[in-house]
Amino acid sequence: MSELSATQQIKNYVLHECHMDKVGIAGIDRFNESPEGQHPTDFLPGCKSVIVFCTRLPDGAVETTFRAFEDLNYGVHGIYGAFGYSGAPNYMLMFANYRLSRFVEKLTGCTAMPEPCGPTHGAKMMSMRHCAYAAGLGEFGWSSLMLTPEFGPRNRFGAVLTTAELEPDPMYHGPQLCDPARCHVCEKLCPTGAIPPYTEGSGRIVESGGKEIAYGQVNWNKCRIMCHGTGKDFNESGTDIIPQDLEDPINDDLTNINRYYSKYPRRDYIQHNPTWKCGNCLTYCPVGSWYEKFRDTKLTNTDVDQYIDKEEV
Ligand code: SF4
Ligand code: SF4
Repeated sequence: MSELSATQQIKNYVLHECHMDKVGIAGIDRFNESPEGQHPTDFLPGCKSVIVFCTRLPDGAVETTFRAFEDLNYGVHGIYGAFGYSGAPNYMLMFANYRLSRFVEKLTGCTAMPEPCGPTHGAKMMSMRHCAYAAGLGEFGWSSLMLTPEFGPRNRFGAVLTTAELEPDPMYHGPQLCDPARCHVCEKLCPTGAIPPYTEGSGRIVESGGKEIAYGQVNWNKCRIMCHGTGKDFNESGTDIIPQDLEDPINDDLTNINRYYSKYPRRDYIQHNPTWKCGNCLTYCPVGSWYEKFRDTKLTNTDVDQYIDKEEV
């Protein structure tokens, strides 16, 4: 019989057997602000804990975004799709979820439900970013991506819901990871202007575990022009599926893109649709250890520092 608590055994299993890079646990009280239908108990009645983990994305795969947008070598960008965004990382998470849910059930005798990641058979899913925030793994960036102190936005997250009462982790309380009053990198390098400039009070407020944070209200239709390849240079129809001069509001009508996907099903992708054809906000964000490496290796010709205001003296 192990002397380790169930919580510690589960964390060890996530890190050493599932080969994940970080793990945290959120108690059910961290989800009081969940939107209707998105609370963990909507998925698993009696859920008491959410185990959240991440896999770090390989820098070499992420940095193919530089080749695509700086060298116009678009073919290379599929490496980002396969290994830096929606392919291998999601399969890693899917298998981790499956293995962990079985392990938790065997260890505790309680129910454990894997949350879908990757090819999901159409399953409804919770927001993994919000789960990661609630489990203390990091903070939201202005880009709306979840940042961890170690890897910045270069991670992807999975979660297992369980009726077992596990020991929760504290909310993230390290140094502030994103200061959108000073850093404008994601806003300036977003090719479609989907990420708004920061102004005080303009972000979407998220509250969990007594900790509040704001992130930018991204215009998802503008984002889809690039990341779903709906611009005429990136899709099979040769036309702009979503007009490139799209104006606000933030949640514009999705009719065009939905009609397009039913007319041109993208059978050459494991996902239903490609979602990785941009990634600038993830790739250029200076948070995480990659930034120092990037400065030395000169993998990009973009001077990211020009978009970061100097500290006030
Ligand atoms: S690029 Fe800058 S503003 Fe955007 S999320 Fe990263 S740190 Fe925040
Ligand atoms: S993925 Fe590209 S288009 Fe979408 S928000 Fe990020 S930088 Fe903008």
